[in-house]
Amino acid sequence: MPTVGGTRVRELTRRVADAWPTPDASGWRHLPFTLLVVLVALIVSKIPLPTRAPLVVAAVAVSLTVQALASLARPARWSREWMLLLPLGQILAVSLLDLGSGDRTGSVAVLLFVPGIALALVPGLLPLLAGLLTVTLACFAPVFLAEDRFYPVLHGVVTALMICALMVHSHAMISTVRRHERSLAAAEDLMRSIMSAASEQAIIATDATGRLVAASSGAERLFEAPADRLVGTELTRLMGEDGASLAGLVGAAADGGSHVSQWRRSIGGSARVVEYVVTPRPGNASEPASEPGSGPGPAPPEGYLVVATDVTAREEEEERQEQFIGLVTHELRTPLVSILGYVDLLRLEPAALTTEQREYVEVLARNARRLRGLVDDLLLSARLAAGERMAHEEVDAVEVVRAALASVRPIADAADVALELSGDDRVPLVSDPQRLGQVVDNLLTNAVKFSHAGGQVRVEVVAEPAPDGGRGARIRVADDGAGIEPDELRRITEPFYRSRESRRRRIAGVGLGLTLVQALVSEHRGTLTIDSEPGRGTEVVVRLPDAAARADHEG
Ligand code: ADP
Repeated sequence: MPTVGGTRVRELTRRVADAWPTPDASGWRHLPFTLLVVLVALIVSKIPLPTRAPLVVAAVAVSLTVQALASLARPARWSREWMLLLPLGQILAVSLLDLGSGDRTGSVAVLLFVPGIALALVPGLLPLLAGLLTVTLACFAPVFLAEDRFYPVLHGVVTALMICALMVHSHAMISTVRRHERSLAAAEDLMRSIMSAASEQAIIATDATGRLVAASSGAERLFEAPADRLVGTELTRLMGEDGASLAGLVGAAADGGSHVSQWRRSIGGSARVVEYVVTPRPGNASEPASEPGSGPGPAPPEGYLVVATDVTAREEEEERQEQFIGLVTHELRTPLVSILGYVDLLRLEPAALTTEQREYVEVLARNARRLRGLVDDLLLSARLAAGERMAHEEVDAVEVVRAALASVRPIADAADVALELSGDDRVPLVSDPQRLGQVVDNLLTNAVKFSHAGGQVRVEVVAEPAPDGGRGARIRVADDGAGIEPDELRRITEPFYRSRESRRRRIAGVGLGLTLVQALVSEHRGTLTIDSEPGRGTEVVVRLPDAAARADHEG
């Protein structure tokens, strides 16, 4: 059972241990050495040696003066040069004690180690040089008082060399430590500034058990707690549902991969959607494996890094786009398809209509088709903006082109433009049939629109290996129409860009078609090339590889 006295002693020891390394205690740190000088002075005065009492008394006086200055005058606030006086004073005290002791073995001079090392640890070269000089002088001082100089010289050389070598070594070591300390502090500053700059994202670092070790200012907002309270909290408590496991939260990050997931929570009373990416913090490569014999394999992560982004606005925007798509489809496209269906029915029985009625039906068909093209383009651009991914189906590109030709043929016939298909019989490809159809549809519509009466649109579809050696298709649509001016060629894939010619001739269109073609081809990881010569015609070539599943958002 601890006694009251024992508790007091422990409390005192703890307080001394806490205060000892602080700058304010720098003076008191001389105390053990001062006591040592006093003790040695007492010993030499008691043993039968040819002691010189005044020198011993002077040594004790110098040492006590240094101690008094060190303890009372707060040397931590002195300039660096004045602080050197304390160890230099101790060197003087040891030197006086050595001279006064009458000891010829050089044992008292060994005390010079302490102030010598103290000087070597002060930053800069000056304290080291001052220390080396004074220690050497102190080691050789007994030579001047001795009649027989052999032993004092010998002891002087050995002791001075030993102490000076140790001082130089300590100085080099402390300089290396200080350099590391500086670069560590710089790295810490950099990390802290990155953490506080990333206010829009929450960045948190955990240890291997999922306990937070650092949190950015963005994390304070997301988790509604100051960073110092977040540090030490379990990740599962912060982000997990009841009973959630760390393995479930970090997913593939535990095996060195990255894990992307979403998390819904209420922040400041409003429901938010947070997307977070977990990656492993690599283990310390210089440390030996914790389990010897565990064999080769990826080192277990030191912990995890979680970068969380509030994607509520993006989600809401995507939801709005989805609603828009639903609305346009339901309110515009469905009735349009129905109109076109009945128009086609009417055209099936031309005999039942008068010539005038047939003309009306053709006008109706043309305009309804134009309207459907525009609605389809608008729908597609909304789908792309909503981040809707393309489908991956095995299709025959020739089949898709044939269907597009069939749908364009009525307009081509009306404009007296011939359509011609050539190339392979079958071109298998992994693609999104609907989107691929829209690409060809847009290219064909443009080719027909910008052709003159009596013109010809040539379409060619061939199998062409993709750059990676896999399957691919090349679709070429060439017309002999108006062509495009060189200065406009660069701009025709910009949204809503229409050439001067199409505006002048009031050719129908809104300038979205090629923008969508470019977007779809890019999503397919294909290429689009447009060559044109004003007055001679335009050639558009689309090269598509087999569409591959996208690698992002995979854990
Ligand atoms: P739209 O056809 O609705 O105007 P596009 O994006 O499809 O929009 O085309 C943009 C512009 O590119 C057109 O206005 C036209 O000036 C030009 N263009 C596209 N295809 C051709 C073509 N085959 N021949 C001549 N000009 C073309």
